[in-house]
Amino acid sequence: MKRVSQETKIEKPRELVVATRNLKKLGEIKEILKGLKLKIFSLEDFPHAPYINEDGKTFMENAAKKAVKIARWTQKLSLGEDSGLCIDALLGAPGVYSSRFSGRNKDDLKNNQKVLKLLKNIPLKKRAAHYTCAVALADKHGLISAVGGRCSGLIGLKMKGTYGFGYDPLFIIPHYGKTFAQLGPALKHKISHRYRALKKIRPIVQKYFP
Ligand code: IMP
Repeated sequence: MKRVSQETKIEKPRELVVATRNLKKLGEIKEILKGLKLKIFSLEDFPHAPYINEDGKTFMENAAKKAVKIARWTQKLSLGEDSGLCIDALLGAPGVYSSRFSGRNKDDLKNNQKVLKLLKNIPLKKRAAHYTCAVALADKHGLISAVGGRCSGLIGLKMKGTYGFGYDPLFIIPHYGKTFAQLGPALKHKISHRYRALKKIRPIVQKYFP
């Protein structure tokens, strides 16, 4: 008779819940985590998941809150992501309010128009900004890790390009003289704030699923 060793370990299912309903953001996260052989879910797969009030003062606080709450609810490894645009001339605004900058209904076009209006008459060289991304990982026992990533650029004088989402039509990467919305996903995934944060979280996910 074959003896089953007491050491035999039960393999954890390689599942990850991304605590977002933003499908564009989810697409970017999936692309960047490609190769980890994970089954990735989003909150679209858990329509009854609790609402998360993003009321933290920092991106990190919001990311951790999303990860911990969703991990507790789903009992699965969960990733919370919070990101936004910080403009020097606006003293860091819109910051954690990036998605709701022009109102509660998270309208990308109106958000971009509001930025252009606030920066009217400010020359390009004084329109420095950066994207920030905080990523937190948690499981049913609590927070595992939280990391950040950043990407610097300039806010254009008008919207250009069609790729991406959010403020991408305004966010110029000085090295290329083009916006993220013109440069497209292949390049964005190599230099973005989200890529830089997820690159740090990758080995931690790998360690979680040996
Ligand atoms: P969150 O879902 O609260 O994290 O919203 C983040 C918001 O920040 C988005 O709705 C966008 O307005 C902005 N944002 C964050 N990352 C990006 C990006 O990669 N491109 C464009 N806008 C972004």
